[in-house]
Amino acid sequence: MHETDLSYKRALARGELSQPFDTIVVGSGAGGLTTAALLALDGQRVLVLERHAVLGGCLQAYQRNGFEWDVGLHYMGEVHRKNSGLARLFAKVTRGQLDWAPMPEVYNRIVVADRTYDYVAGAEAFKDRLKSYFPQEATAIDQYIELVLQANRAAKAFFGERALPQTVTDAVSTPAQTAFAPYSQRTVLEVMDTLTDNAELKAVWCGHYGDYCNSPAQASFAIHAIVIGHYLDGASYPVGGAPRIALTMSDTVRAAGGACLVGADVAGMVIENGRTVGVRMADGTVLGARQVVSAIGIQQTLALLQGIDTPETQALAVASSALGSTQCYAVLNIGLDAANGALGIHPANVWVHPGNDLTGNQTRYVADPSCAAMPLYFITHPSLRDPSWPARYPGRSTMDICGLTDWSVFARFAGTRWMRRGAEYDDMKARLHEHLLEQAYTRFPQIRGRVAHAELSTPLSFNHFLGRSHGNFMGYEQTPKRFAQRWMRAHSPVKGLYFSGQDVSAAGVSGAMVGGLVAASAVLGRDLFRELKPAGHP
Ligand SMILES: Cc1cc2nc3c(=O)[nH]c(=O)nc-3n(C[C@H](O)[C@H](O)[C@H](O)COP(=O)(O)OP(=O)(O)OC[C@H]3O[C@@H](n4cnc5c(N)ncnc54)[C@H](O)[C@@H]3O)c2cc1C
Repeated sequence: MHETDLSYKRALARGELSQPFDTIVVGSGAGGLTTAALLALDGQRVLVLERHAVLGGCLQAYQRNGFEWDVGLHYMGEVHRKNSGLARLFAKVTRGQLDWAPMPEVYNRIVVADRTYDYVAGAEAFKDRLKSYFPQEATAIDQYIELVLQANRAAKAFFGERALPQTVTDAVSTPAQTAFAPYSQRTVLEVMDTLTDNAELKAVWCGHYGDYCNSPAQASFAIHAIVIGHYLDGASYPVGGAPRIALTMSDTVRAAGGACLVGADVAGMVIENGRTVGVRMADGTVLGARQVVSAIGIQQTLALLQGIDTPETQALAVASSALGSTQCYAVLNIGLDAANGALGIHPANVWVHPGNDLTGNQTRYVADPSCAAMPLYFITHPSLRDPSWPARYPGRSTMDICGLTDWSVFARFAGTRWMRRGAEYDDMKARLHEHLLEQAYTRFPQIRGRVAHAELSTPLSFNHFLGRSHGNFMGYEQTPKRFAQRWMRAHSPVKGLYFSGQDVSAAGVSGAMVGGLVAASAVLGRDLFRELKPAGHP
């Protein structure tokens, strides 16, 4: 990425965009780049258009004052099992150019008030550790893990169908939809209530609900099970940080004669005779392609279809606006003037809850965000997980603390401009900055006096940098209602236009990549899941 010229303006001026591409992909997050790389590997010439100055969407990092922070990846499951579907997908789209560093056995640490519980890698070890904390609940713990595994098995066929046109799965429930419904159509707490009355155990099971950004009272059990299942065997971190994922996938696109360009703001779709034939850029330029894949979010894509009023697009707009969003975070990126490991900090994520009534924690905060504790604090240590960090940033390390918040707290600043949001916003930001720093000091007193830089992103920052509307970097709500929608799929209502990314499957980098795979399958009319080769096969 460093030596390649990524500028849309320069590519346009040099005439590099005058020949039509096979496929244009809008948005360069994990979803868009996965689709683009898979199509490139199938021989297509693909153009990826990213409006921001950097490729990667949530996979990007930013540098400041001699530090670097990932924006949206802290840990990944499944990738260390070479034959898992996700490891095979990564190996394919990066052409084997990405390395993973495993996290320690304890990868998540749940703190409920002053009590700490560890998540240990491996289903049996996980169960054993939970049983050591809750010996009376052994049966419930076994049943819970069994339900998680069943839900994951049902999810595979359910998401596989998202590559099919809606008409194929519209009329009646398919076997895959029927099999998934017992998990997807109940909330996390509804399912857990059938297993136990133990509020503390339920809080521990839901300890990292910030990974799917809807409270356990609202989120679908399916997304909970997918996330628990994703990390059940432990977690890893990409060597060199999340931008390496974007770099290696975009290299795959370029190697096939395609291009990935930044500063490339797509303003509309070009439709001729009911078929998408290209995109219109913000500067008025029209770029042609046989098909367009939008990986910027379905709601955001609808804004690019203005003026295309068919009954199908109207129905999609109504359905999309009836769906809520995931919750949002305020994120404080902290730079420490201490070498990696020098402060004796364990690399596990720490998820801190004020008490075991997770629903109450949230309600109290929303009722009075100025006084109450935030419902959840997620503290993470990216530099400690990256073996390449000490050589790149000697004598330094990083920590992030993310406070789960609510869009209602920030909605009144929605119309303001980046860096010019006014004194009230600046005051609020300063208070939030101090609050999060104090929380970090409480958990890790050894960082006091070692903070060389700290920078806060709010939900408005995510809107600005990722094109979101409610700070919802994870897109739509992950509730039973979401998983009952049949339009969240790769085929859009307009011919030649496909959807990719997390809205096609589920949130998270792996969810966005599955969405990317589903979109490529829909474009090619083949099931690419089946074509993912086990490790060691060409
Ligand atoms: C703080 C944080 C922590 C996270 N931690 C994890 C984690 O540990 N593990 C995990 O799996 N997931 C994590 N996630 C979630 C994960 O990063 C996202 O769910 C996923 O990467 C979304 O991918 P996407 O491709 O669907 O969308 P995005 O990454 O949002 O990509 C969309 C892209 O489209 C571009 N775009 C928008 N409009 C236009 C336009 N008109 N023209 C051109 N381009 C446009 C945007 O600029 C953006 O680059 C985290 C996210 C955040 C923010």
